[in-house]
Amino acid sequence: MKFEQYRIAEEIKRSLEDQGFKKPTDIQYKAIPSILKGDDVLAIAQTGTGKTAAFAIPILHMLHVQHRARNKGAVKCLVMVPTRELAIQISEVFKQLGKYTRVDIMGLYGGVEQEAQIKKLQDGVDVLIATPGRMFDLRAQGHLDLSHVQTLILDEADHMLDLGFIRDIRDIIRHLPRNRQTLFFSATIDEEIKDLAYSIVRNPIRIQISPDNPVSKNVNHSVAFVEMDDKRFFLERLVREYPENKILVFVRTKVRAERVAAAMERVGVKAIVMHGGKEQQDRLAVMQEFRKGDVKLLITTDVNARGIDIPNVEYVVNYDLPEETENYVHRVGRTGRGMQKGQAVSFCSTEEKPMLEAIEAYLGKKVQVMTISKDDYQQTIRFSEEVPNDNWQLLINEHEEAMKNAKRKKKKK
Ligand code: ADP
Ligand code: MG
Repeated sequence: MKFEQYRIAEEIKRSLEDQGFKKPTDIQYKAIPSILKGDDVLAIAQTGTGKTAAFAIPILHMLHVQHRARNKGAVKCLVMVPTRELAIQISEVFKQLGKYTRVDIMGLYGGVEQEAQIKKLQDGVDVLIATPGRMFDLRAQGHLDLSHVQTLILDEADHMLDLGFIRDIRDIIRHLPRNRQTLFFSATIDEEIKDLAYSIVRNPIRIQISPDNPVSKNVNHSVAFVEMDDKRFFLERLVREYPENKILVFVRTKVRAERVAAAMERVGVKAIVMHGGKEQQDRLAVMQEFRKGDVKLLITTDVNARGIDIPNVEYVVNYDLPEETENYVHRVGRTGRGMQKGQAVSFCSTEEKPMLEAIEAYLGKKVQVMTISKDDYQQTIRFSEEVPNDNWQLLINEHEEAMKNAKRKKKKK
């Protein structure tokens, strides 16, 4: 079935055509009718399969045909997401798909001045896409009326119901009408979170696409055994082998993100860094640069693991294995989006092997091993431009000299 045949407003069909969306994806095909009917839905489908439009299309349709007067400051549909970048991205999808409708859309997130946000909220918005923190603040200050919410959507639902967010979410749900529609969307969910989700909804329709394999079928993923100190050489090699490719690299911490970027700069590879320790302006600028392809290597933390939809990311590298097993699925899912194919490789050191086992247990299967011969391994290190071969001895001498100097200084004191 094509979108043309759907019983949705012409205004939305036009924008779907503008986007080049002809046919619904599996999750869209299954979720849209239930949402239009007013059912609660728990939808699980792989990364990059179009979950955003699966809820945006029916919500835009319902609000477009509603005509009901807007209550001052009241929100009709509340979409909750874990990160600022995701709030921006999903607002954009709603705005694109809703551009010919009369539905008012707003993204609400922290790290920017709140005055403009408060002003816009006073006029009322139909769809509010928000991160919990800023929303919580503005509600507490009385700028946000949630008593008219008809639909609550949790995107990355398992994460939103997880430890870090659940208290905020519960608190917000207390302010919503009991008689509302609730929709959960994610690529992953575990039993515990599923129970929690069920406690928040009424007779939900459960939709799960390919339940046996949470990893997107468009992603070819493997693991390479690389020791901690050698990882940078392998990243360097990958970048040099694929100079035209956009590569997204995940590391464990903010500090490591900066360090890996510095190591790349040292060998003449341009890299940009994005993590939660940066100013919001910088976060946006960096994402923009990477999106446009001005810089092809982005080093980031798990703040970018979920939801982010950047076209043409050919490669994802797990420079460090993720601590949350499900984030393996989300990280590698930043490539192979829509109809595209993608590659992912994880660098696993000896000390990370238990993490790999945990990931494999989570996936219910082994991750394909990329074998590197001893020679190849040594060559990768040797060919790094960081330390040209003949300079090794020089470096060692330098180091020994420095140590001697340091000792001498200490003695003098
Ligand atoms: P998910 O939330 O499932 O990870 P997204 O909603 O971010 O995926 O969509 C992934 C990509 O697929 C986006 O770039 C989007 O534009 C594209 N897409 C969504 N629906 C369709 C469709 N029906 N036809 C073609 N492309 C689509
Ligand atoms: Mg998504």
